[in-house]
Amino acid sequence: MAVYKIVEIGDEILKEKAKPVKSINANIIKLLDNMADTLADAKGAGLAAPQIGVSKRVIVVDVGEGLYEMVNPQIINTAGQETDVEGCLSIPGLVGDVTRAATVKVRYLDRHGKEKNLTAKGMLARALQHEIDHLEGILYIDRAVNIRKLSKKEA
Ligand code: ZN
Repeated sequence: MAVYKIVEIGDEILKEKAKPVKSINANIIKLLDNMADTLADAKGAGLAAPQIGVSKRVIVVDVGEGLYEMVNPQIINTAGQETDVEGCLSIPGLVGDVTRAATVKVRYLDRHGKEKNLTAKGMLARALQHEIDHLEGILYIDRAVNIRKLSKKEA
């Protein structure tokens, strides 16, 4: 178990486009394992590699439906629209309302290098879009309205 330090807003890496993973080697497996540990430790819904200072296209998401580990994830289809509240582990203490696709289809590689597709809706769809945005150097506050301090009710 290893928990990485989470990079916070102001760090340039959060604005950079992350690099595609060329091959899934032992380093990537270790990165996935440690990102999952970091996500669990932070009690977050998702984490992207740039958030721990690594400019690679790797995300982990867990909204309570099990852990998803994705290498080189791409949104290949979207449907509908939904607005809901979001926060970010790299922007402590704030939340905002973000409009995103209600349903997304994501293509990615799993830890074995196998190509997979996932169609997600609700919280999972939102978390995937948020994390894939991180790989493009986009933060939720770039899209959000009504950015406010996290209240006890929303914590
Ligand atoms: Zn985030």
